Amino acid sequence: MYEHPEFGFTDVKVGADAVLGGIGQGLELTRDWFTEERLMIGARTIGAAERALELAVDWAKTRVQGGTRIFDHQLIQGMIADSVAEIAVNRALTHQVAWEFDQADPADLARRKTLHAKAATVKLAASEASNRIADRAVQILGGRGYMRENAVERLWRELRVDRIWEGTSEIQRVVIANEVDKRGLSGVLGFSGVTETEQSWARIPALAL
Ligand SMILES: Cc1cc2nc3c(=O)[nH]c(=O)nc-3n(C[C@H](O)[C@H](O)[C@H](O)COP(=O)(O)OP(=O)(O)OC[C@H]3O[C@@H](n4cnc5c(N)ncnc54)[C@H](O)[C@@H]3O)c2cc1C
Repeated sequence: MYEHPEFGFTDVKVGADAVLGGIGQGLELTRDWFTEERLMIGARTIGAAERALELAVDWAKTRVQGGTRIFDHQLIQGMIADSVAEIAVNRALTHQVAWEFDQADPADLARRKTLHAKAATVKLAASEASNRIADRAVQILGGRGYMRENAVERLWRELRVDRIWEGTSEIQRVVIANEVDKRGLSGVLGFSGVTETEQSWARIPALAL
């Protein structure tokens, strides 16, 4: 279990060799941490959403109401299809931005700032989507979905905090809009880390589909 320890410092002196990053660059370190952690939240929330959807699909295929599987109702199918689409899109975006983060030159400050906004995009999109998906999973299980012995209840309850911690959804929107204002749309919407030639090659399989 995670705990929150409290540290107190009195008259502590540290040498220059103990400075992390550079003097006056503490915010950059914080931003780098946010980038990593918000990517982890993207991965974790979408993983949890996938588990919730698995449980909902299993249930929908076996639960019979009015003589038919509830899976056969189009309104149930719509919830499942929307959840599949949201998981697929958010998982792909999380992989993309994590890959870009791995490729980034740590000395490129502007790039790090753009990646910070891209990680905010991942966190906002994935946490909001996973909350919708877990909510649908509870709905598909009906009354059982609200009961603690079913894991969808726990997933729904636990995913709620991901829209709050590590910066609320509102703060992610502020970070994203700030990036758009300062450096424009192309960075936050682009696929950085590959050359233009590599990008055009990357587009070919998509066009062939
Ligand atoms: C279980 C849990 C564990 C946590 N663990 C940690 C931890 O380990 N380390 C840590 O540092 N923090 C931790 N937090 C704190 C968490 O990061 C904060 O709760 C979160 O950032 C929101 O801050 P706040 O609670 O002060 O809400 P507030 O800042 O008071 O926000 C309240 C509401 O106002 C909105 N709001 C605030 N400012 C703006 C704005 N500029 N524009 C628009 N809307 C705004 C918010 O989006 C929210 O809806 C944890 C929180 C929880 C619930």
